[in-house]
Amino acid sequence: KTYKQGMEKTRNSFSGKINDLIARYRKVDEDFFEELEEVLISADVGVSTVMDLIDELKMEVKRRNIKDSAEVKEVISEKLVEIYYGDDDEDLEELNIQNGELSIILVVGVNGAGKTTSIGKLAYKLKQEGKNVVLAAGDTFRAGAIEQLDVWGERAGVDVIKQSEGSDPAAVIFDGIKSAKSRNADVLICDTAGRLQNKVNLMNELAKVKRVIEREVPSAPHEVLLVLDATTGQNAMSQAKTFSEATDVSGIVLTKLDGTAKGGIVLAIRNELQIPVKFAGLGEKMEDLREFNAHAFVYGLFA
Ligand code: GDP
Repeated sequence: KTYKQGMEKTRNSFSGKINDLIARYRKVDEDFFEELEEVLISADVGVSTVMDLIDELKMEVKRRNIKDSAEVKEVISEKLVEIYYGDDDEDLEELNIQNGELSIILVVGVNGAGKTTSIGKLAYKLKQEGKNVVLAAGDTFRAGAIEQLDVWGERAGVDVIKQSEGSDPAAVIFDGIKSAKSRNADVLICDTAGRLQNKVNLMNELAKVKRVIEREVPSAPHEVLLVLDATTGQNAMSQAKTFSEATDVSGIVLTKLDGTAKGGIVLAIRNELQIPVKFAGLGEKMEDLREFNAHAFVYGLFA
């Protein structure tokens, strides 16, 4: 699926509302901006991101002496992309994979966000790119999590290193690293338990897992990916805050973008938490994981 296909719901509501606004206003004035602000906020772009955007738009409209509201549409997409990247290079959403040595990706997120599915999709994607991938079933807490990861491993055609339910996640991941090394793997993707109810437990567990990883492979983890469900809107924002307090999150996998009209959350996360979205989930199938790209995303909103 392309962004255009996968984000139909967001696209319909977002560009539908903006087109409607343009049809009603024709001329760009203060009221136009006020309504535009509401449209953006209702798409979960995030209040402070919207404020920045509106300020930028006003300046640009003045600078280019734009009077016709239809012309503003193009400026909105330009500015959305600009705000997304800020002062950073545009390759910030690329996955950090080392060539010729084992790269370790730690995956965190609450239950139900789509963590297992995303690990399966990512394993498949990397394998398609010719990488030798191993999974470590570090979510030993949730009933059925290990079996579910096993199913995805089989689908993607990669090995899954596991122990029994209730065993120490750090021990599973230690095993995973040993196995990945002995198989000469390129990438080890580690699942973790997704309990957020007890923040101290979460922090301790992630810290212990990280210690083991760092001891075995000093340059690792190369990525700590947080899986967030786009349909949960502002709740996803607060999860992002909690997890980034518990560990250094390097990127977001935003799932279920196909199931929401509020895809604007991507921009809020990036702008308010400074964490780049690295992948987008656009469906339940193995192929439905896309590398995130702000240009393609914004084009998906308006196309
Ligand atoms: P976990 O508890 O975080 O491991 O979540 P799962 O991987 O089991 O996913 C929970 C549900 O969300 C499953 O029914 C998945 O099929 C579904 N899901 C995951 N990612 C996506 C996505 O990008 N789009 C859609 N539509 N559903 C998804």
